[in-house]
Amino acid sequence: MTERRVRVRFAPSPTGPLHIGGVRTALYNYLFARHHGGDFILRIEDTDQNRYVEGAEDYIIKSLLWCGLTPDEGPGDLGGKYGPYRQSERKAMYAAYAVELVEKGWAYYAFDTAEELDALRKAAESEGRAFIYNSSTRSTLSNSLNMTPEELKEKLDSGVSYVIRFKIPAEGDITIHDMIRGDITFHMSELDDKVLYKSDGMPTYHLANIVDDHTMDISHVIRGEEWLASMPLHVLLYRAFGWQAPEFAHLPLILKPSGKGKLSKRDGDQGGFPVFPLEWHAPSGEVYSGYRERGYIQGAFINMLALLGWNDGTEQEIYTVEELSRAFTLEKVGKSGARFDPEKTRWFNQQYVKAMSDEDFFSFVSPVLKANGIGCDEYAQKVCALVKERCSFPEDIMEHGGYFFFSPTEYDPQALKKRWKEGTSAHLMVMADIISREFAAGKQVMHDAVIGYAQGEGLSLGLIMNSLRIALVGAAKGPEIFDIIETLGVEETVSRIHRAVDVVKI
Ligand code: GLU
Repeated sequence: MTERRVRVRFAPSPTGPLHIGGVRTALYNYLFARHHGGDFILRIEDTDQNRYVEGAEDYIIKSLLWCGLTPDEGPGDLGGKYGPYRQSERKAMYAAYAVELVEKGWAYYAFDTAEELDALRKAAESEGRAFIYNSSTRSTLSNSLNMTPEELKEKLDSGVSYVIRFKIPAEGDITIHDMIRGDITFHMSELDDKVLYKSDGMPTYHLANIVDDHTMDISHVIRGEEWLASMPLHVLLYRAFGWQAPEFAHLPLILKPSGKGKLSKRDGDQGGFPVFPLEWHAPSGEVYSGYRERGYIQGAFINMLALLGWNDGTEQEIYTVEELSRAFTLEKVGKSGARFDPEKTRWFNQQYVKAMSDEDFFSFVSPVLKANGIGCDEYAQKVCALVKERCSFPEDIMEHGGYFFFSPTEYDPQALKKRWKEGTSAHLMVMADIISREFAAGKQVMHDAVIGYAQGEGLSLGLIMNSLRIALVGAAKGPEIFDIIETLGVEETVSRIHRAVDVVKI
């Protein structure tokens, strides 16, 4: 048998913005396709018109593009020869497939009303059981299996509402291989006769999904754990049609930072981290924050998501997309839920920021500099290069580099208490003179002169250098002190020392 070409699809329903769990599903599909030199397809599953949300499809596509997960085929400009890629545009083709299954004896018409089914459900519940529409009940219900061909024709001609249901075999088990979870056995008696087709002319998710996966020649279905329960029905549908089923892989959930329960939109609001890739402006007017707008780097975001449920068994944590594509296999995806860690997510961004070139970092933080009235000149470039290592996000530039642009007006009281003693001011005044004298000779000479003075006076270096730092920065933080002096320039350095001595008054 020739190997089947790898074709995978990401099949979101446009019912809202794409949660990071959805982005991870898309990412794993993408990496799997790249790993095997196959195709990554975007299909929009919009058969449920009631849940359609304006702008969601556009949001999904923009998110994938920002993440660099460009589909090889998909709706609109994405193109491809298996289109259309929106189920609403494929509507006309599904009815014939549903009828085919009825003709083959794998499906039947059902006329039970929503009220009737509801009453049956409630009655079963009151007896502590669940109502299942399958071989245990279907012979007593209003469906074509209990009608003569004439009765059925009459019923259909009368125009009453009906659905087409799949006929789950009466007994037996079905064992299916999941590429992540191994063999899983389902009992027919626990499956229900799911609706495939509704009288409004729309297929349900189950029918449309299988017909599309087949007609789009999908080789592997990689999707969230919540669809695991649908897998036996889907495999039975393939058998009923006589089609080759794709391989299945159900991804573990992304869990809350506490490790308990699925990560939700609310966790993001409460924990102060985004759960969406891009900012989402809901039709209700609410705005939800996005990784992009929070200053996350696309590569860091993707890197973090890739490791949320997968690792290649090594200690490596930082990967380019090319490296991920090479290393990624479904067998290495974990079976249990992956705990989302906001701290670790920030850590990934920091690693990517650290690895940026000085030029890229400068562009990264420029909007924040501008917003703070700071000109993007050579001086700003120098400052940015100096504090890059300390920043994880664009706005961090103000915390770690703001004092280069605005001289301190206040001094951290805690630091003062610890580092500024009787006599410190006098020593700092001498140091200001030394710095004025030696600045032009360069950092090393200036350094040796200042240290030489401190040692000659028998001063504690930790104490005196930190008081100098407080005078220049306003707090006991920042890069190497002589780098700060060199960047600030001699006049500014001296004037900051004088000012601190004036204000601190010890
Ligand atoms: N439309 C389904 C969803 O929204 C797709 C599930 C699948 O991949 O089969 O997740």
